[in-house]
Amino acid sequence: MSIHWKILIGIILGLLIGYLASLSAFGVNTVQDFVKPVGTIFIKVLKLIAVPLVFVSLAKGIAELKDIKKLSNLGGKTIGWYLLTTVFSVLLGLLLVNLFKPGSGLDIEALQRLATDTINLDDKKGTSSGPLDFFVRMVPDNIFAALGNNGQLLQVIFFTVLFSVSLLMIPENDQKPVVRLIESLNMIMLKIVDIIIAFSPYAVFALMATLMVEIKDPAIFSALLNYSLVLLLGMAILLTVYPLLARSLAGMPVMKFVRGILPAQMVALTTSSSMATLPVTMECAVDNLGVEDEVVSFVCPIGATVNMDATSLMQSIAAVFVCQVIGFDLSIPDQLTIVVTATMASIGAAAVPSAGVIMLVMVLESIGFPSDKLPLALTMILAVDRPLDMCRTVVNISGDSFVSVVVGKSVLGNRAAS
Ligand code: ASP
Repeated sequence: MSIHWKILIGIILGLLIGYLASLSAFGVNTVQDFVKPVGTIFIKVLKLIAVPLVFVSLAKGIAELKDIKKLSNLGGKTIGWYLLTTVFSVLLGLLLVNLFKPGSGLDIEALQRLATDTINLDDKKGTSSGPLDFFVRMVPDNIFAALGNNGQLLQVIFFTVLFSVSLLMIPENDQKPVVRLIESLNMIMLKIVDIIIAFSPYAVFALMATLMVEIKDPAIFSALLNYSLVLLLGMAILLTVYPLLARSLAGMPVMKFVRGILPAQMVALTTSSSMATLPVTMECAVDNLGVEDEVVSFVCPIGATVNMDATSLMQSIAAVFVCQVIGFDLSIPDQLTIVVTATMASIGAAAVPSAGVIMLVMVLESIGFPSDKLPLALTMILAVDRPLDMCRTVVNISGDSFVSVVVGKSVLGNRAAS
């Protein structure tokens, strides 16, 4: 049986058993004590491998490119595609939210009562930054501190590019031992990923069962149904656009793309983190989509942190939605401000669960959203965020895989189409 079927069965059984367990206190405790740890360990192992995997696969990829000009071509195209898909997603979100107006006519008082989690805004402050702050944060001042922090993947990428480009600049004979070492290390990392993937059906079972016993009051979901539906519609559009574009731009059969990234999508769904899913995304892009490893090892790690199409879609929909709820009118310049800040927010968002909600503060502040209403706005969005975050992560990693196919084709003329 192929791995995506096994994972799917794990998801369904997890939902089912989790639902049954949620009916009794004994069931809830059993899941929390004995099943939840399995999922937690899985996510930890996935994250554990992310930094070394990014370092060795990116270093190997750049060493294999041999040519720094090729690297800048690859880098330029990757960033270009990421910007394009991000801005497209923000605009799509604005179009849908203005068309369907999910926030008009909602009863704020009732929402306030239903959304019980209170937000501590102090935690979310300090997210706004200057225009070049992103680049400043990308450069590490201590490589070991960066390697020791999963949230600093961009710093690791910066160091790896510097390291590998310098490697290419030294005489070929001196390069050889390091290149050999990196190749062996890369093989070991990929083996670890294989082991993790083989274990994933059990882990997603545990994650889904835990989700079911910890689920919130369903009333809030129906109150915010319109918002959720508009966001889901936007994500469905993105998921349709990727394979179609991959076919027209890189000649990849639609079903090859859809089937190829399925295992990664399922891991994304259950972990809610592009970063945790990264090892599986990379494996799927190389093995199933046939994109060259040197492209994947460059495009996917950067994409996991920088390219979050569904997160940018969510920024624009959520921002306009909360304005509609409180009756805060948005002018055209306000909406244009949303395009810019939502793009920056999704680029700056960490690839972890609910990062999108945190970045929403920055977007709302930029349009002068009344600060006394900010806690209510975030509380509402957060109340239904768990399932939406899961879906966002699926779309985010699909977007990264799509860009790897297109960039791979245009830089190396990859095997993907065959
Ligand atoms: N959880 C998402 C991701 O890791 C980020 C977000 O939209 O909150 O891709």
